[in-house]
Amino acid sequence: MLALEATPAEIDELDQCQRDALDACVIAAMTLCTREGDARGRARLLMECHGRYTRSWGVFGKAASFPAFLNQLQSAPVGALLPGPASWSEIWEVRLLENDGTATATLTRLIMEASGQAHEVPGLSADLRHLHSVLRALGKLPPGARLARIAAEAVQHAVFRTLQQAGFAAYTEGRRTLVNEPVLGRRALSRYALLTDLGVYTGISPVRQFASQWAPCPLCKWTMRATPRGRHSAELACEDERHRQRGARFKMESDDGQWRLKPLGEIREKPELRPVEGWIALSYGLWQWITIPGLLEIDLEALVHGAGADVRLWPFGDSYDLHITKNGITWRVDVKTWADPQGIAEQMRADPEGCSGLTVVIPEHLRGYTAVLNRVLGPFGARVITDLDLVVEVRAA
Ligand SMILES: [Zn+2]
Repeated sequence: MLALEATPAEIDELDQCQRDALDACVIAAMTLCTREGDARGRARLLMECHGRYTRSWGVFGKAASFPAFLNQLQSAPVGALLPGPASWSEIWEVRLLENDGTATATLTRLIMEASGQAHEVPGLSADLRHLHSVLRALGKLPPGARLARIAAEAVQHAVFRTLQQAGFAAYTEGRRTLVNEPVLGRRALSRYALLTDLGVYTGISPVRQFASQWAPCPLCKWTMRATPRGRHSAELACEDERHRQRGARFKMESDDGQWRLKPLGEIREKPELRPVEGWIALSYGLWQWITIPGLLEIDLEALVHGAGADVRLWPFGDSYDLHITKNGITWRVDVKTWADPQGIAEQMRADPEGCSGLTVVIPEHLRGYTAVLNRVLGPFGARVITDLDLVVEVRAA
């Protein structure tokens, strides 16, 4: 699959009928590729999705029949499934399922933002239920809210604000732990009382374990997704597309009753297999929106420090991530590893004073989004550049 990522920004390009159709396709595709749950429940969910899909095409539309719908979900790009005219959106070209019937990275991301019905998809419900329970515990889940619009910004905000209430040291340490330790041994729990009170760690997800074992991604240390290949082997790979491309992919197999990992990519050093019992991990949304950007924030801290700047990571009580100064120039940097103009704009509207002069930094692979993000955020006095641009600017200062 191409390294494309469907982001909420792209979904915003779709009209309401297309969004409804996409929502139904996403839930149906995830239902098709999961092995959990009973067959009758899955068939019922697939038929409901097809009903919603047909309605999204309108009275005069020619929606695919049920068998054709299932067929297209397995083999066609998203564009072939949506009603109405094609937008420029890259989402048109991506597929929801790989040739072997497993979920593409795009599908995994989209399902987190799909309608409330996503809860019914076996296998995924654990991640969604956990994210909702964390948000509810923090008092941040408006009744009836669609996950798509409370996603990234709201989750970060809720967790960080709650950590801040415990004071500066606990805030910094808690945030660092969420980035550096996305999985914890249950025995280590007592050391992280604040985080365990928040309930941000939970049991290892069923979709990221095989034969009651799991393994950490060598790049982010989070639990890799386990895709069974028959009863006696599985493929373990990080949910992050870029980590997979860099080699976070392994085959898990056993010959003599002993499970082993074999590299499938360029990373030769194999992570250790661990028993599911005794470990707890962040769920998908928290890893995606806190751990992944956090890794970039920590990288940037080192890079701009190396470029001769003074840098403060996660300045307490502020709505940005890095405070950088060099030769009288100051950068207030907010790191985003997703491109969601509407979500970011909503957050800025909530804190208009914090945005003026803000530098929003996105990773290099999202460079294509800088123009649209600048159009949306410019009126708030913020600008958008990539991580490489920032390092170049700081070096030149
Ligand atoms: Zn990873």
